[in-house]
Amino acid sequence: MKRELTAIEIVTIGEELLSGATLDSNAATIAQALEPLGLRVVRRTTVGDEAGGIADAVASALARTGAVITTGGLGPTDDDITKAAVAGVLGRPLEFREEVWARLKERWARRGRIPETNRRQAEVPAGAEVFPNPRGTAPGLAVEDERLGLCVLLPGPPAEVESLVQDAIVAFLAQRVSGDVKRPYRCQLRTTGVAESAIAERVGGRLDDLLLDVAYLPEVDGVDIRLTGWARDEVEVTERLHEAVRRLRETLGLHIYTEGPADLAQVVGDLLRQRGLTVTVAESCTAGLIARRLTEFAGSSDYFWGGMIVYDDRAKVELLGVAEETLRRYGAVSEETAREMAEGACRRSGSAAAIAVSGIAGPAGGTEEKPVGTVWLAVRLNDETVAKRRYYPGTRDMVRARAAQGGLDLLRRTLLQAGL
Ligand code: AMP
Ligand code: MG
Repeated sequence: MKRELTAIEIVTIGEELLSGATLDSNAATIAQALEPLGLRVVRRTTVGDEAGGIADAVASALARTGAVITTGGLGPTDDDITKAAVAGVLGRPLEFREEVWARLKERWARRGRIPETNRRQAEVPAGAEVFPNPRGTAPGLAVEDERLGLCVLLPGPPAEVESLVQDAIVAFLAQRVSGDVKRPYRCQLRTTGVAESAIAERVGGRLDDLLLDVAYLPEVDGVDIRLTGWARDEVEVTERLHEAVRRLRETLGLHIYTEGPADLAQVVGDLLRQRGLTVTVAESCTAGLIARRLTEFAGSSDYFWGGMIVYDDRAKVELLGVAEETLRRYGAVSEETAREMAEGACRRSGSAAAIAVSGIAGPAGGTEEKPVGTVWLAVRLNDETVAKRRYYPGTRDMVRARAAQGGLDLLRRTLLQAGL
């Protein structure tokens, strides 16, 4: 009698994972693929290439959940001992499988004679189900013990894990998950320009009665709010998710720039396109980051005119017509300069909209009055210019990324507030 699964654990195997030389991407690949099944990954363990550690990790995972997926250690070399360790836990011998050996030889045929060391790859724990691996030599394996539970063994290389999981393991496990298990239904709102703590404070307990998981996910560019409802059926949660989105929009207003995964630049591009406008950028501290982001999407020439990267003061004067007097009196990182940059960008291009950025990305160049991270943003729209001083914390890369995001966001807010 095969048991129904509700939870599973992942054991990733390899010294290189423990030492940090390799990032454990397999665990993430597997967890993401299993989530839609409603099969919850409740624990992840990483161990080295050592039989005792592998056996111990697999045995305790089975004791807790009755199901485990391992990756790594299925190769032909001496450090590949996962099969033997798992066979030991389940009290089974390894057995040689002709059909696995035949496939291995076939794979090798084009390259020459197969080394005898590869014979080990044709050994599987007795009774295992074999999942052919089109991208590599070690097949995936599933072994089940009535009492102890289910072990799925996958090879280490991430590309092989991806294809085995997508092509075989998801379907194999799906049969084992009970039909009335709760699955996650999600929805994501993206915010920028407001701190995580400020969002949490505003939201307070407003969503409590909806019984959703609310996660605040801060990134350099802003904070994403991810809502998850667990239910047997989508209709059970759709209403609650919609209601949560409605309340968040009411509470956070313009801080939310999209629902879904879209980048802010895409949102800005769409707003410009809908209004038949083009934007020109004048970038000092971000040196093309905004231009790059606005042009990530096919068809961006509909709304992106082009731009000027103006680092030296001479570039600001010659390309954008910033007054020498302005630079002398107020400096390059100033409201006046940022405004004149935006004005110059519109004048040169004929665009109705411009984004200008001038700031101190650091690590050098800060002063008491204008510390590293000080950025002036200016947006021009239909002959009116708004300018904002920002202070962005972080490394040089972070300041630049935040300044680019800030510039795009200022244009977004200006477009929406202009009621165009
Ligand atoms: P193995 O099957 O253990 O010999 O691993 C083969 C290759 O896959 C090695 O180069 C590992 O660094 C890589 N690998 C193994 N496990 C993982 C993992 N969990 N995440 C990413 N790469 C991995
Ligand atoms: Mg290994």
